[in-house]
Amino acid sequence: MIDPARLRRALALAVSVKTDRSAFVVSGGQRPHRVLLDGIQCDCWDAALRGVTCKHQLAVRWEALRIQDPELLDAVAALVSP
Ligand SMILES: [Zn+2]
Repeated sequence: MIDPARLRRALALAVSVKTDRSAFVVSGGQRPHRVLLDGIQCDCWDAALRGVTCKHQLAVRWEALRIQDPELLDAVAALVSP
């Protein structure tokens, strides 16, 4: 289940792909985090230790959707952003 508060925080993050293409790098928080290309594994505390869907994973998933339809997703992001 996706935590709405966590999704809101995810929308403020930036997603890029590592130069060796091994993972996504999610920045904009306290420090960058690495999410594997399958979007499932993240090296942050929430994902690695608590086993929850973290904001970094959500940011990667959001970016994947945004690439498909940027106009729609930007409009939705504007609705839910603080
Ligand atoms: Zn994470």
